[in-house]
Amino acid sequence: MPAPNIETIVSLSKRRGFVFPASDIYGGLGSSWDYGPLGVELANNIKKSWWNWLVYERDDVEGLDSSIIQNRLVWKYSGHEQTFHDPLVDCRKCKERFRLDKLQDVQCPLHNEVHPGESPECSLTEAREFNLMFKTTVGAVSADDDPNALAYLRPETAQGIFINFANVLNTSRRKLPFGVAQIGKAFRNEVTPGNFIFRTREFEQMEMEYFCRAEDAERIHQEWIDGFQGWIESLGISAGNLKLYEQSKEELAHYAVRTVDFLYRYFPEREVEDNQWDELMGIANRTDYDLRVHSKKPEDADGKRINPDSTEDLSYFDPTTNERFYPYVIEPAIGVNRTLLAVMMDAYTEKTNEKGETRVILKLTPEMAPIKVAVLPLAKNKPEIVETAKKIKRGLQRSMRTVYDDTGGIGKLYARQDEIGTPFCVTVDHQTLEDNAVTLRDRDTWEQERISLDQLTDHLKQRLV
Ligand code: ATP
Repeated sequence: MPAPNIETIVSLSKRRGFVFPASDIYGGLGSSWDYGPLGVELANNIKKSWWNWLVYERDDVEGLDSSIIQNRLVWKYSGHEQTFHDPLVDCRKCKERFRLDKLQDVQCPLHNEVHPGESPECSLTEAREFNLMFKTTVGAVSADDDPNALAYLRPETAQGIFINFANVLNTSRRKLPFGVAQIGKAFRNEVTPGNFIFRTREFEQMEMEYFCRAEDAERIHQEWIDGFQGWIESLGISAGNLKLYEQSKEELAHYAVRTVDFLYRYFPEREVEDNQWDELMGIANRTDYDLRVHSKKPEDADGKRINPDSTEDLSYFDPTTNERFYPYVIEPAIGVNRTLLAVMMDAYTEKTNEKGETRVILKLTPEMAPIKVAVLPLAKNKPEIVETAKKIKRGLQRSMRTVYDDTGGIGKLYARQDEIGTPFCVTVDHQTLEDNAVTLRDRDTWEQERISLDQLTDHLKQRLV
């Protein structure tokens, strides 16, 4: 049974140190969140899993880390200055502002039981377009005095990959097809952020641009859709809470010919089944749009440069066929934060103990678990037991993330580890001092077994795979 709603994860996150409201001591900053000791580990595990799967376990993907602030022209030629808009409406009654296409995701501030626009009192204006890019200035001048000082915080990591296409191609000596993967922060001045970390103005993306020949693009697109289904499920997200959504022609971004989204059941509490789902990731066929628009190559009939500002032609030369062309791009793009939320929601379970008390267990996969093992002394006032437990912790820590905890009775300590998803607890007791063995407790079954210290590390390594 996954979490019944996002609020359950919000409170678990705050209680246990996964995610905190940002700037909390100053009243917060709408929809900004800080990742605490456990949240940063979980996010790192997601990023490591993605990077390992794409960059290390395959032979055709390189990594990149491009700048958040680029030359403004990147966003002019990518089309973001012109088209990266959301339709915005104001309510004359409550004076709030909403995204027209996401009214179903928010409540009317005056009448919580309906969405904006649904109460007779609501008075929504006509929609107008609002550009989502955050502006900033570069250097000690204001953009009013010098328009060249204007810059943007990147709204996606993808463009950093396109403008480095020739650099990566030339230095890595790659042949098509190949991909370039990047993880990093992106910023969008969202009209209606919300639903915890689902929609924020600052977030982290994991994007790969996979370059291929036009005639292979459709097939490769489908291969990545199938591949990502497997990777998402490997994080512990169940297939029943995932579904594919084919974007309609009207929904497609200006550069895409086909986009398939993976939706996750983020809102299981909603009555209408269709409203329970929202986007976890998108996989787009961006055609050769991006490499073309950033290229200096003369393209039009009268030989005028399509892009008068670029100094590079981002086309590809195939020496076997003697052809020069702009590769197509398949782009799987997924947010770290939305993935983290889905992983936590899917792992959330409740179990009743023999006293009839309900306990939360976060059934994270061993790969995702922020802490793999907790070493707990049964008697913290016995120095030999404490010393032995700390020594075991130091030994295990070399090969897996381990913590030592003696801040409560054993029942409380087990419950705390269950709630944060630690797969195993190792308990050190009086007998350990005599038989060099410890009790190993399994998070999901609560079963306990005695295991000798010289086998402990290998045993845990095997079970944590
Ligand atoms: P949405 O329709 O939900 O606004 P999008 O289709 O604009 O998302 P993309 O541009 O495809 O999103 O970005 C790729 C991924 O980045 C999304 O699938 C999502 O996981 C993540 N993402 C996008 N916007 C946000 C945001 N404001 N907060 C958190 N994650 C985001």
